[in-house]
Amino acid sequence: MIGSSARSQIEDLIESMHRMSIGNTPFVQVEEGIFAKIEWKNRFGSIKDRPAFYMIYSLREAGDLDNRIIIEASSGNTGLAISGIARMLGLKSVIVLPENASSATKQLILSNGSELIETPAKTGTEGSIKVVNEMVSAGNYVWLNQHSNTKNSDAHYYTTAREMAEAEGKPAAIIAGIGTGGTITGIARYFKEMDPGIRIIGVQPSPGSHIHGLRNAFSSKYRGIIDRYGDLIDEIVYVNEDQAKAEIKRYYERTGDLIGISSGANLFAARTMKERYGKIFTVFPDSGEKYRDELDFLKQ
Ligand code: PMP
Repeated sequence: MIGSSARSQIEDLIESMHRMSIGNTPFVQVEEGIFAKIEWKNRFGSIKDRPAFYMIYSLREAGDLDNRIIIEASSGNTGLAISGIARMLGLKSVIVLPENASSATKQLILSNGSELIETPAKTGTEGSIKVVNEMVSAGNYVWLNQHSNTKNSDAHYYTTAREMAEAEGKPAAIIAGIGTGGTITGIARYFKEMDPGIRIIGVQPSPGSHIHGLRNAFSSKYRGIIDRYGDLIDEIVYVNEDQAKAEIKRYYERTGDLIGISSGANLFAARTMKERYGKIFTVFPDSGEKYRDELDFLKQ
């Protein structure tokens, strides 16, 4: 239970989020029985606009951002969201990314005026987090720490999940890819309160496969959100990059919409599990525009 003043603070936050054109994205039936949140409609182009705004706004309200520089490690989209939001609020930001993040993402971050630091591809997001850790202990930075900051999960509890329920009621299962775990745990918390029988299914890249935005959070050193709420996830499915890309092609040919790679992975998993569960809610975290260079079917 939260008190009425905490509740109204959250309502104020959500209103400010909407004023920045973040949240309230369409929730569309993309296949019979499968509903997806179209998250590239957020202001800076991905689902990560929501937690980035939520974390920054909360720090700003608490006066913790004054004269300090925001720093964060990201696989791409959180960095992009932070750089856009910081620019609009007149704040400085430093984004640390693995060098294999999409080149379009890096360009956009730089054009928002953020400082960009790249870490080796082979150390993944773990390597980026390590660098942030070191910089934070040496400088005047505010680390959002999306991998452990429960406000990341709260952003989805209070906005993504609530919007889903208001639009389409109750699903039998929820499917979402895991990066920090913010999306899946926020949505899981909301729907398990509604009905603990709703099945929560996490999507992870198959071993050796790279899907932008997803990682094996359970085996990561930096997994505060998963430690806190990971028990709500009932099942994990593994999807490889080829399966995700084949799904993107299929969806593109059918609809003309180019979905991102993790969206392809979510849709692949949802189609595989539809017979078993029935009504499924999922998310399309971003569009495929940033990944055009990696989608071979577009070049044929
Ligand atoms: N898909 C994409 C494209 C992402 O950028 C992210 C965030 N890393 C995710 C999925 C996973 O979201 P979360 O961090 O909330 O688990």
